[in-house]
Amino acid sequence: MKSITKQKTMEEVEQSLKGLDRIFIIGCGTCTTMTKTGGIDQVAEMKGKLQDLGKRITGTTVIPTACDDMTETAMKENEQFIRNADVILSMACALGVHRMSLNISKPVIPAVDTLFIGVEETPGFFREACAQCGQCLLGETAGVCPITACHKGLVNGPCGGTNNGKCEVDKEKDCAWTLIYNRLKEQGRLELMHRYQPPRNHHISLKPRSVRIQ
Ligand code: SF4
Ligand code: SF4
Repeated sequence: MKSITKQKTMEEVEQSLKGLDRIFIIGCGTCTTMTKTGGIDQVAEMKGKLQDLGKRITGTTVIPTACDDMTETAMKENEQFIRNADVILSMACALGVHRMSLNISKPVIPAVDTLFIGVEETPGFFREACAQCGQCLLGETAGVCPITACHKGLVNGPCGGTNNGKCEVDKEKDCAWTLIYNRLKEQGRLELMHRYQPPRNHHISLKPRSVRIQ
């Protein structure tokens, strides 16, 4: 599972950095390295682009995993360079931005957009696997998530637009409900296709969600 990100355009980054001229850049050695949006090479590239725009880069680092405790340590190690900066430009996912912000009062600005949590289906191709809806249906849908695999997020069967097993929204993609049907059939559990899923209880996913592990 990886946090999937895409780089913001340089126009967006420039806009976010308006009036902030001294910048410390932080990348991540895990997800954004793998997606080539915020690893060593992309941090170096960003540094060059910002310098071309007349910005001063006080330093850069790529934290092995920017969403955990390593962030605090790395920021301490780079304290003097960060002190000289007006802002931290994060090339980690939103979890990294959050983590960095916990350790500093200066602004932390994301240079990437966090899209979804995905699994690699084929080399370099990631698909959203779970939207963390809080009411998992995988046990009744033979392991195919109707929230993420169906373009309409339908939980009570197909929309009617299925054509030869393909989705009407994206003809290249298998219809989630055809996959569910086929897998349930294979498992001898086709009766589950008739099970009615009541309206979702949005109270259990009120934001921010939290849990205490005893
Ligand atoms: S139903 Fe889909 S989105 Fe919801 S928890 Fe299960 S896998 Fe995640
Ligand atoms: S064709 Fe299938 S996957 Fe596409 S929106 Fe309809 S039910 Fe969902």
